[in-house]
Amino acid sequence: MLGKDRTFVEIDLSAIAANMEAMHGNTAPGTKMAAVIKTDGYGHGAKQIAAVLEPLPYVWGFCTATFGEAAELREAGIQKPILVLGYTFPDCYEEEARLGIRPAVFREDQLEELSKAAEKAGVTMPIHLAVDTGMSRIGITPDEKGLAFVKRALETPNITVEGIFTHFAKADMLSPDPTMTQAQAFKHFTGRIEKELSYRVPIRHCDNSAGLIRFPENDMDMVRAGITVYGLWPSEEVPQDIVPLRPALSWYSSVVFIKYLPAGRAISYGGTFITEKTTRVATISVGYGDGYPRSLSNKGYVLIRGKRAPILGRICMDQLMVDVSDIPGAKEGDLVTLIGTDGEETITCEALGDLSGRFNYELACDIGKRVPRIYRQDEKN
Ligand SMILES: *Cc1c(COP(=O)(O)O)cnc(C)c1O
Repeated sequence: MLGKDRTFVEIDLSAIAANMEAMHGNTAPGTKMAAVIKTDGYGHGAKQIAAVLEPLPYVWGFCTATFGEAAELREAGIQKPILVLGYTFPDCYEEEARLGIRPAVFREDQLEELSKAAEKAGVTMPIHLAVDTGMSRIGITPDEKGLAFVKRALETPNITVEGIFTHFAKADMLSPDPTMTQAQAFKHFTGRIEKELSYRVPIRHCDNSAGLIRFPENDMDMVRAGITVYGLWPSEEVPQDIVPLRPALSWYSSVVFIKYLPAGRAISYGGTFITEKTTRVATISVGYGDGYPRSLSNKGYVLIRGKRAPILGRICMDQLMVDVSDIPGAKEGDLVTLIGTDGEETITCEALGDLSGRFNYELACDIGKRVPRIYRQDEKN
C-alpha cells in the first residue's frame, strides 16, 4: 500500500481466529457466538474481521452499533445475521428488513414502524428485544410493563422475536454481585415470557467479553464477544488465565530525521522540554492526527531497535520527537513500534491507555482513518 511507511497498523488475523476459538472453548456446548465489530471492529477493520470469523460454525453472526455499519458489512458480502445493538432510526427500517439486519427493539413506536417496513420489503423481519436490567441505557423493563410489550411484539405482524438480550454494566469489576443480580432479573423475565406467553425466545443473550470469561453460567443461547476478539482485556480485574488471548494489533511508524541538539534547546510547541545536555533527537512520523494520544507528551515512549525512546516535548498533529541518545544504532528509516513488540520490549494497548489516561477500547477505536491497516495471517499460535 502506498504511503504505509509513514505509519501503519498491522492486524494479525490468525490471532483474531485463535481468540474466538479460545473463547468458544470457555462456553457451554452449543452456545452460539456473536462477534461485536462496532466502530470498524474496534479500529481493526470490521470487514476483514467479519470475513475471517464468518466461516466458523459456532459464529452465529455479528453485532454492530449502527445500521450504517451493518449495511457496510452486507455490501462487503457478509451473509450471516447482523444485529444492530443501538437504536435504528425509522428511515432505515425498510432497507434493514431487506438486508436481513436485526434491529434492537425497545420503543413503543418501533413495533408498528418495523411491521410496516417489513411488509413493504415483503419479508418477515427478525428482531431482538433489548431489556434494561441495570445499565439504564436502552431497553424495556423486566416487569409487567415489559411483559406487555413482549406480548405486543409477538402479536405484531411481519416481525418475529428471534432474540432477547440485556447488557451488563459491571461484568468487568471485581464483585460478581451486580452482574449476578442483572442476570437473575433477565433469566426471571425470559422465564416469565416462556410461562405466561408460551414463547421460548430462540436466542437469549447477555454475556459480553468480561461476562463470557468470568460467568459462563450466564451464557444462555449466545454470547457477544467484543474487546476480547481483538485480544484486548475488558479491565485489569478480569483474570487473564482463564481464556488465553493474543492481541491482534500492532502499530508502527518510522524515524524520518535524526539530529544532535546542544543543551538548552526547547523541543516542539510551547517548548515544554528543554535539553539538559547534548541530545540525539529522532523525529517520528505520527501524531495525534493519527489518533496517537497527545497526552503522552513528555510522558510516553516508543520502541526503536528493541529499546525505549522517551517522547520529548509535545506531540504534534503529525509528528513527534523522541530521545535516541541511548540508542546509538538508531538511524533515519528505522521502524518505530508504538504498540506491539520489538525484541524484549512490548507496549500493550492497555499500558499505553494507562500512561495516556485513556481507555484501551477508546485508544484502539481512535486510531485514525489515515493510518493504513495491513492484514497478516500466519500459522504461529
Ligand atoms: C459493545 C457491546 C458489547 C461488547 O462489549 P465488550 O466489552 O467489548 O465485550 C456487547 N453488548 C453490547 C450491547 C454492547 O454495546
